[in-house]
Amino acid sequence: MMDETDVIIVGAGPVGMLTALTLAQAGASVRVLEKEPHIINSPRAAVYFPSTLIILEELGLLDELLEIGFTNKTFGTHIPEFGYHSVVVTQPVEGIPFDYQLHAGQHDVARVAMEHAQKLGVEVLFDHEVTAIADDGEGVTVTAGGQDFRARWLIGCDGARSTVRKLAGIEFEGHTWPERFVATNVKFPFQELGYQQANFVCDPVNMAVIAQLDRDGLWRCTYMEDASLPLDGYEDRIHQRYEWFMQGRKDYEIVSASPYMLHQRAGETLRKGHVLLAGDAAHATNPCGGLGLTSGVWTGVVLADVLGAVLRGEEDESILDRFSDERRRVFWEVVSPAATENKRMLQETDMQQRKQDLAHIRALDENPESGALLMLFAYKVIGDVLRPGSRWVDADPSDRVAIDISGRQGQIH
Ligand SMILES: Cc1cc2nc3c(=O)[nH]c(=O)nc-3n(C[C@H](O)[C@H](O)[C@H](O)COP(=O)(O)OP(=O)(O)OC[C@H]3O[C@@H](n4cnc5c(N)ncnc54)[C@H](O)[C@@H]3O)c2cc1C
Repeated sequence: MMDETDVIIVGAGPVGMLTALTLAQAGASVRVLEKEPHIINSPRAAVYFPSTLIILEELGLLDELLEIGFTNKTFGTHIPEFGYHSVVVTQPVEGIPFDYQLHAGQHDVARVAMEHAQKLGVEVLFDHEVTAIADDGEGVTVTAGGQDFRARWLIGCDGARSTVRKLAGIEFEGHTWPERFVATNVKFPFQELGYQQANFVCDPVNMAVIAQLDRDGLWRCTYMEDASLPLDGYEDRIHQRYEWFMQGRKDYEIVSASPYMLHQRAGETLRKGHVLLAGDAAHATNPCGGLGLTSGVWTGVVLADVLGAVLRGEEDESILDRFSDERRRVFWEVVSPAATENKRMLQETDMQQRKQDLAHIRALDENPESGALLMLFAYKVIGDVLRPGSRWVDADPSDRVAIDISGRQGQIH
């Protein structure tokens, strides 16, 4: 058995590494166990709202990530069948330090966080798949790669299929959608066809989320297909789908592609004994609107903050139950309804409803505060940071925004 640490984190994804860094900065000893030989680079989160930039800046990562990625202030909504195209430009809002979104791969966020965490003594062990855990009331023994590791606390940041969650016997409540999403990374000049750097395409057959990924012409095009189609043929079908998005142009180069199941699910609890959950392991949403990692990182850093206080003897362990209740509340009251509404609007088939959606989008376009609302909405994922001494205490300005759950109407007061 290796020496005991305060915390073991399972999963070197973006939430695992940001949580590890936050804990290390709070003085905790942390070990991260990751089953893959390196940080995985699958086509997933790429866009970070100001609510996430607060974390990246506070942890000292933002400047480095701004060098790697790029900033964007525009968001396009396209309804090709109605010939409607709108652009919302983010605006500065008093009290909010950022008026842009950062575009960067989530593997870059995880890697930069890992490098900073390692400098503070966090040990990251790749090729260590966790296969067993035992909580004896004093702490947890974790088996990975044929070895046992010991810690006071265990945090599962091992994604939506979390082994830690399953081993702890925590049910993943909610539902899985019947559709499949296909996320593709592709080199193609989408801006030549009128796309903004981030876009919703609303269409009953060809809904998509399209966003620029880097400064060298790499873009993400994520679309939906029926999950009853055989998984095997999805790569061949990409070309048929591109025909529509790229308006017949063939000068594209596919770099990577991956199919995904979509969920609206959260753990029945995010704390059981000495086992805790954060990120997709704690709650998983469909990616329409980019709220998955946006909410998952806040679950991670709020947990790191309260757990750091428990380890220092400043807080009673019961704060971990409040953490669980609050993060489940944020997921079920804010994240899941908004992502579900975004998904509905993107793929709506009912013509009457589509016309109503168009009216809502037009109203937002004509609202002079639309750019501010777009930014403020994501702050609702911050929720209650649970203790007065928290470093995140002043982070949330979302009480200044009255906004409907779809995020498309509202006002700032
Ligand atoms: C197409 C798509 C686009 C998306 N776009 C956005 C977006 O723009 N904005 C946004 O906020 N969110 C987005 N999301 C959601 C986002 O990708 C996830 O919320 C995010 O990956 C969650 O991070 P995580 O660290 O919790 O888990 P993951 O990134 O899944 O990392 C989990 C890690 O745990 C490891 N692991 C798993 N099991 C074990 C084990 N037994 N032992 C050891 N290690 C293990 C895995 O190898 C992995 O490295 C998108 C998702 C998809 C599918």
